[in-house]
Amino acid sequence: MKPAKFEYHKPETLDEALTLLAEYGDEARVIAGGQSLVPMMNIRLARPDHLIDINGIDDLSQIRLENGSVAIGALVRHREIEHSAQLAQACPPLPAAACNIGHYALRARGTIGGSLALADPAAEFPLMATLLDAEFVARSGAGERSVPSHEFFVSVFTTALEPEEILTAVRFRTLAQSEGWGFRWFSRRVGDYALVNAAAIVALKDEGRIHRIAMVLGGVGATPVRLTGLEQESVGAEASAGWVREISSAAAARVEPGGDKHASAEYRRELVELLLAGALEDAIDRCRGRQAA
Ligand SMILES: Cc1cc2nc3c(=O)[nH]c(=O)nc-3n(C[C@H](O)[C@H](O)[C@H](O)COP(=O)(O)OP(=O)(O)OC[C@H]3O[C@@H](n4cnc5c(N)ncnc54)[C@H](O)[C@@H]3O)c2cc1C
Repeated sequence: MKPAKFEYHKPETLDEALTLLAEYGDEARVIAGGQSLVPMMNIRLARPDHLIDINGIDDLSQIRLENGSVAIGALVRHREIEHSAQLAQACPPLPAAACNIGHYALRARGTIGGSLALADPAAEFPLMATLLDAEFVARSGAGERSVPSHEFFVSVFTTALEPEEILTAVRFRTLAQSEGWGFRWFSRRVGDYALVNAAAIVALKDEGRIHRIAMVLGGVGATPVRLTGLEQESVGAEASAGWVREISSAAAARVEPGGDKHASAEYRRELVELLLAGALEDAIDRCRGRQAA
């Protein structure tokens, strides 16, 4: 298959790209790694008249550690995140998520900005953005705004980005020394999107009681699902094996996954229970390991 005819633009600065977007509006699409957009154009699911290639804009390719957070430029490739020593230290769930995305060739070109702007509800970076309370930095000709993750993901393949906006960077909180994390997923074949994925961050105090907790599920709704109600109910609980079973089964009962040709709703519900339990066990183990170190 070949894409419909389009005009290709390669701006060298962000301002130039924003001017083009303002000029062409709905008729234009930004292209980053092209790993999702090009297949969509080839099967004519996307037919932009103007393609604005942002790969020549250097400012968007940096990873910067700030006070308590890390800012990742929209053009940073999955592979760079996978191999970043800085991120392995400050925010290890991100490299763990990156190395699970698709195949090597895809990770070499695909960008974090493209993955987040695409907003597939089973994708790894939207899951981690929801877990890590990410802030999305969007620029248009009118200026810059920051959007929190709970507002950014609106529905399947839909975000709060306006047509004239470019996502320039995403800010994730880093992990504290007292926190442990876990990430589990299930896909039928290596390289496929997960049917369901689950991630958790746990901080313990008072001899093993939950002090802080974050839990998120992917593949069970139109956007990643943060389990805020269960998080609040968990504070003060003893992080025992029994509690992990209880909370995972409560999560499976509360979510409402859809069924499709890949998996029934009931199968996805079972995966939620299994994967969340695994993510919580890993988070608790890592937390205890860090406390002991
Ligand atoms: C076979 C296959 C398997 C895959 N498996 C997985 C997987 O297991 N897990 C996973 O998470 N992902 C998976 N992906 C998706 C992959 O991660 C893509 O790289 C990613 O979704 C898109 O990134 P990109 O840089 O290639 O974006 P592009 O394809 O260039 O763009 C995607 C969309 O985002 C928009 N966009 C891109 N950058 C910006 C920006 N800075 N600001 C505003 N809009 C922007 C584009 O206009 C387009 O609508 C898979 C894709 C394929 C084809």
